[in-house]
Amino acid sequence: MKKTILISAGPTREHLDPVRYISNMSSGRMGYLIAEEGVRRGHRVILVSGPTSLSEPDGVEFVPVVSALDMQRELERFFSESDCLFMSAAVCDYRPATSSDKKIKNKNDMQIDMICNPDILKGLSAKKKDQFVCGFCIETNDLIKHAEEKLRSKGLDMIVASQYSTDKNPFGANKMEPLLIFANGDKRRVEPLEKKELAASLLDFV
Ligand code: C5P
Repeated sequence: MKKTILISAGPTREHLDPVRYISNMSSGRMGYLIAEEGVRRGHRVILVSGPTSLSEPDGVEFVPVVSALDMQRELERFFSESDCLFMSAAVCDYRPATSSDKKIKNKNDMQIDMICNPDILKGLSAKKKDQFVCGFCIETNDLIKHAEEKLRSKGLDMIVASQYSTDKNPFGANKMEPLLIFANGDKRRVEPLEKKELAASLLDFV
């Protein structure tokens, strides 16, 4: 059956001035692969993406965004008409308290005040009717503990949890070996597999 699949991907950028920003290492590949597979299966796919070097997949409704606040606004616009959400974006948790519309001149040392961005996923989950909501996390330690806590506190149906270490860096990697944790407590360890294959398995849950 044709579903509407909402996907977030990529990093967000939190600008200090027009040419400088704070961001993170997300390549966006996981979300783009889920989007491509969704289109291939005949679903309607809405891809809300932060800035990446990837090209827009054919057949998606592509919504480019820059900051976490932009991403929140666009996801909220589409969430109620969606059957599921794959929140693979790496949202910046903080943004500079002020952003200059002119390039900041470098003179002396400076301090940057940061304020919290909203937890987009938590906010959307709180509004869910019967959508399937899937989050992602990358942890350096205590993977299961942190992932279970995020699953619970963000009200998710499933979380795709990956371990980060210097020799196992999931950012931009081709292969993943995540742990899938479900709201009923079930856990499924996935053998190392290509991100493309993982995208297909994740869509099987929809
Ligand atoms: O950053 P964290 O590990 O908490 O991310 C877990 C999930 O929460 C991810 O799916 C991410 O997209 C989402 N998230 C969010 N808004 C934030 C931070 C994270 O939606 N401000």
